[in-house]
Amino acid sequence: MKKLFALLIAIIPLVATAQYNPDIVYTNISKTAQRTEIILPEVNGYTLYKADLHIHSFYSDGHCSPRYRVREAWLDGLDIIAITDHIEYRGNEQYFLEHLKGYTDGKVIKARNRVVIEKPATEEGILVDLNLSVREAKKEAKKYDMLIIPAAEITREPVKIGHYNVLFSTDNNKIYDPDPMQALRNARAQGALIMHNHPGWKRKSVEKTEFEVKAYNEGLIDGIEVVNGSQFYPKIIDRAIEEKLFMASTTDIHPTTAEFYRLKGDLRNMTFILAKDKSLKSIREALEQNRTIGYSGGQIIGEEELLKAFFMAGVKARLLDTDKKGKHSILVTNTTSLTFRLRRGKGVSHELSPFQSIYYTVDKGKNLTVTVDNMWIGDHKHPNITIPVE
Ligand SMILES: [Zn+2]
Ligand SMILES: [Zn+2]
Repeated sequence: MKKLFALLIAIIPLVATAQYNPDIVYTNISKTAQRTEIILPEVNGYTLYKADLHIHSFYSDGHCSPRYRVREAWLDGLDIIAITDHIEYRGNEQYFLEHLKGYTDGKVIKARNRVVIEKPATEEGILVDLNLSVREAKKEAKKYDMLIIPAAEITREPVKIGHYNVLFSTDNNKIYDPDPMQALRNARAQGALIMHNHPGWKRKSVEKTEFEVKAYNEGLIDGIEVVNGSQFYPKIIDRAIEEKLFMASTTDIHPTTAEFYRLKGDLRNMTFILAKDKSLKSIREALEQNRTIGYSGGQIIGEEELLKAFFMAGVKARLLDTDKKGKHSILVTNTTSLTFRLRRGKGVSHELSPFQSIYYTVDKGKNLTVTVDNMWIGDHKHPNITIPVE
C-alpha cells in the first residue's frame, strides 16, 4: 500500500501536465528550448529593456505568425517587440484568400489594393484588418510577460520617399493615405511616435531626400534606425544626435531570427531602452527622451555619455598589486553578456568577453584609458574611457 502511494505521488505531476500513457516512450523531451538571458547593468538608475521595434508577420510579407514572433523574441532574450506589418504591401494576402475559398463556394477572390506603394489604392481602400497582428501578438505576449508596442510600417517608394514605422498607434486602419506625408500626419494624429526606417536602403547615400527634409521639418520624425538587418549606417548616429532622435537597431525580420542570427551563434539585433519600468508609458517616455542604445553583431551604438555610463556600469577594474617601481597590476572584469573590444593607444584591440577578465599593467602615475572599438558614438568614432580602479 505504501509503495502504491509513493508511485501515485510520482505519477501525479505527469498526469497534471499530460494524460499518462504507459504505451508512449518520450524520446526528445529531456531537453527544452531555453531563453537566452542577456545580462546588462542598470544605467543611471534605469533598467535596460531589450526591444526589437521592427518585425514582420505573415499578415504582410513575413514568414511567421505574430504568435510565433512573440515566442521567438522571448527565446532570443527580448522584453519588448513591435510587430510592424507593412500597410501598403501585403505579400501574403492572396494566399489567405485562396485558403478561404471554401467560404466563397470554391471561388478564389482576387486580392485588391494589395500593393499600393506607388499607385494609390482605389476608393475601396485596404480591405484587411491591419490591427490583427497586434491583437494576436498581445494575446500570446501575456504568457511571456512580453510588452507589445502597437505598430505598423508605412511602406512607400524606397529611393525618394522611404519607410516609416508607426509606434504606439491606436488604429492601423486609419493611417493609409495616397499622399505619404498625409499618412505620417495621420499616424501623428493618433499620438504615435514615428521612426525613420533603413535610411540607406536601395540608395547611394544616407543623405535626406526632398521628402525627408519636409517630413523632418514638419516635426514628424522621432527616431531613426542606425541599424536595419545587416546594414549599419554610422553617419546616422551624427544625425540622431544633432536632431534629437532616438536610435534603434532592428532586425526587420521577415523569415526567422534562428536563420539570420541564432544558428550563426549571434544575438539578434536589438535596441536597449533605458526605462523606469516595462509599461507602455515608461517605454514611450524613454524613446521620447532618446534613452536608447543599439546592438548589432557585437557593435554597440549610441550617444557618447550614455555609452560611457553603460560601459562604466558593466565593466569593473580592481587593483591587484603595485610593484616597487609603482607599476600597477589591474584586473578588468566584464559583468555583462556583451563583448567589448578594448584598445590602449594605437595598439591592437583585445576582446573582453562576457563575464571574463583581462589583466593589465599600468605605469606609475598613469590612468588605465582604453578606446572601446566596438562602441560607436558617431561616424567611425569610438569613445575613450578612463576606467576607475577600485
Ligand atoms: Zn521597410
Ligand atoms: Zn520592414
